[in-house]
Amino acid sequence: MLVKIKCSKCDTEGTISLLEPDYQGPYRCWKCREMFAIALEANVLKSCEPLSEEEFQKAQEVERLRRKFRRE
Ligand SMILES: [Zn+2]
Repeated sequence: MLVKIKCSKCDTEGTISLLEPDYQGPYRCWKCREMFAIALEANVLKSCEPLSEEEFQKAQEVERLRRKFRRE
């Protein structure tokens, strides 16, 4: 499913595709390229914290492994 995320820096709305209604992981604004760690509960944004490039890559790797793990 697709969930709309509003960038807290530039107010641009982007979308993220989720496997489940609950999500915790990285999000990058398509417009200003700002990176965030977001948390969703039942498709509702609960938190949105700015991330550094390094933290973002780490979070992305964790998310990638989590998705891989789910499939197996
Ligand atoms: Zn933005």
